Amino acid sequence: MQEGLCWINGHARTAVDGGWIDNVDPSDGVSFGRLARGKAADIDAAVSAAHDAFKNRWQRVSAVERGRVMTRLATLVTQDAAQLASLEARDTGKPISQARADVVALARYFEFYAGACDKLHGQTLPYAEGYTVLTLREPHGVTGHIIPWNYPMQIFGRSVGAALAAGNCCVVKPAEDACLSLLRVAALASEAGLPDGVLNLVPGLGIEAGAALAAHPDIQHLSFTGSTATGKLVAQACALRASPVTLELGGKSPQLVFEDADLDAALPVLVNAVIQNAGQTCSAGSRVLVQDTIADRLIEALAHRFCALRAGPSSADLDLGPLVSRKQQQVVWDFLSAAQREGLEVAAQGSVVDDAPEQGFYQAPVLFADVPQSSRLTQSEIFGPVLVVQRFTDEADALRLANDTPYGLVAGLWTRDGARQLRLAKQLHSGQVFINNYGAGGGVELPFGGVKGSGYGREKGFEALYGFTQLKTIAIRHG
Ligand code: NAD
Repeated sequence: MQEGLCWINGHARTAVDGGWIDNVDPSDGVSFGRLARGKAADIDAAVSAAHDAFKNRWQRVSAVERGRVMTRLATLVTQDAAQLASLEARDTGKPISQARADVVALARYFEFYAGACDKLHGQTLPYAEGYTVLTLREPHGVTGHIIPWNYPMQIFGRSVGAALAAGNCCVVKPAEDACLSLLRVAALASEAGLPDGVLNLVPGLGIEAGAALAAHPDIQHLSFTGSTATGKLVAQACALRASPVTLELGGKSPQLVFEDADLDAALPVLVNAVIQNAGQTCSAGSRVLVQDTIADRLIEALAHRFCALRAGPSSADLDLGPLVSRKQQQVVWDFLSAAQREGLEVAAQGSVVDDAPEQGFYQAPVLFADVPQSSRLTQSEIFGPVLVVQRFTDEADALRLANDTPYGLVAGLWTRDGARQLRLAKQLHSGQVFINNYGAGGGVELPFGGVKGSGYGREKGFEALYGFTQLKTIAIRHG
């Protein structure tokens, strides 16, 4: 039986009150282990260890040495790739090749932020005669990180990688549905030379360990990745103690396909953007908006591809694995039932392979064509392999549909017209716009985050480092 323990001050330990959470394999619905059910007392211990490490150890480590530790961690992650990928695939249900790609991304985040440690600096500012003014970029101290289950390693890498590089010590609350890979990474970090207490992980339920972390008076910055509903609660808890927070929330990202688009290039990308990780991706391209002159052709081509898609156990490494949990499967089923009640017709559907275990949490990918803008299917994040297609007449119509949802995370534009590319990219309400591509292979270097209900603040790239520091201005009057 696999056990996942709390990782506090460089050591694995059970939760203070001895509680556990069942760990279920989404591919067969069977429990394969248990996780420590950390609560407020465990969060207290982790925060206290992190403060001690910040004051007595990490703050004294030079930027270049921080970078060396993180480089060693990137190497250890790469050497341990097979084990990490297998843990992630079992925990989340994702096809094993997707889990392998997540390990590569995790190593890449540590590599990127390792290189950034000694390049993060303040400025000198021109001011009045007789003064020298300079700015320092200082770490917050102890940062909190609440991580979802869909990409544990990638989201840990981008958030904790940047926080450590900026000189913070971290307390992480991974998701209760998937966190085994992260507990292993914590042990690797110690092996890489990260001092005890610099990185602490407390698995547990959101309403227990998560809420305790968000409300903790000694957490000086919080990075939350998860649903918009929970993000609002977390932001509220941070506001009550006037603490900064970054919210990386959900999305309903559109891809706009114009009649001059290269459809051969677009098609596989449009499909992959919604089935990757069984649609459980914040930046999933879950809406395709297509110009009416080519709509029938595109819908037919999408339908052809959807019919060929197959879902199965993570070890089978098919187009998609199961959803992460029975709860998430029910969420997707509720959307599909609502669509049926609305009278929406399924344009195409993939399949679940015959030998997939019956108790696994599978959902075949579904394509809906001509969905009204007001439909729940268009307006809400489903977090499953469901693609909605809508038609538009011209640029103005496309923009209206694209921007008319509560979200604004990512948008894709498919057109060969350069003027249109820039015109629309500037008017789309979203944190990232991809032109004639989507997702750019993950883009460790590219700042990422949302507008509107998709959140605020930016992670990834160099930009994330600014969020994990605070700027101090020093004005010296020397005459
Ligand atoms: P969730 O909000 O239910 O949970 C996310 C994390 O918050 C988990 O660790 C959970 O335990 C914790 N949590 C739950 N309730 C809490 C509370 N009251 N206080 C503090 N913490 C609490 O989200 P989820 O279902 O795990 O993840 C899916 C959502 O995450 C989707 O909406 C998806 O779009 C979003 N997401 C966003 C990004 C991004 O970068 N923008 C990336 C991945 C996922």
